[in-house]
Amino acid sequence: MGVIVRFAPSPTGYLHIGGARTAIFNYLYARHHDGKFYLRIEDTDVERSEKQYEDEILESMQWLGMDYDGKPIYQSQRTDLYKSYIKKLLDSGHAYFCNCSKEELDAERERAMAEKRKPVYSRKCRYNPAKEGVIRFKVTETGSTTFDDKILGNITINHEEIEDFVIARTDSSPTYNFTVVVDDAQMGITHVIRGDDHVNNTPKQILIFDVVTRGPGDIYQE
Ligand code: GLU
Repeated sequence: MGVIVRFAPSPTGYLHIGGARTAIFNYLYARHHDGKFYLRIEDTDVERSEKQYEDEILESMQWLGMDYDGKPIYQSQRTDLYKSYIKKLLDSGHAYFCNCSKEELDAERERAMAEKRKPVYSRKCRYNPAKEGVIRFKVTETGSTTFDDKILGNITINHEEIEDFVIARTDSSPTYNFTVVVDDAQMGITHVIRGDDHVNNTPKQILIFDVVTRGPGDIYQE
């Protein structure tokens, strides 16, 4: 299988040096292996995403001489795809509606902090699902997830430390941890090269990856 990587900036600010660094690593890895290097604009956060930042990212890529394959992929144009996967997860029992109020969740969090426990959602609605609200992913309650980070080595996270995280907001818009996995799967991404600020997201994304069907690989041949 050929190498397929992506640079996935969010247009919520100018491309900074950390982003450029991530892009360069992806670019060099793809070109070295004669693989594909895609640019994916992660613009699902409508409040914070701005067109001016998006334009600036495209200009910066050009200025840096990093030519990506095909056209940029915009997450904002893939909402139907994400929603179809969310429906699949709900139908197959991998996700559920939660209508716990902010006050309830805050109180849970404060209790956990007072008891010096990691604040993790109690999963109340998992056992008594609501009919509407946010949609949470059911994290397997036992066991752990291990992944091999090429820089940091093997990382293992116990599932009890991962809460049933939100994959769609009350307005049904999907969240970052969900869209990124659907896209990485659909685009046939073979290696995820990104900043270590995403290490904490990786186990959540692996758990979703396990239940999302892998796509054809080359997104331009879908
Ligand atoms: N959009 C994310 C960010 O700008 C990157 C997502 C990823 O590389 O997985 O931090």
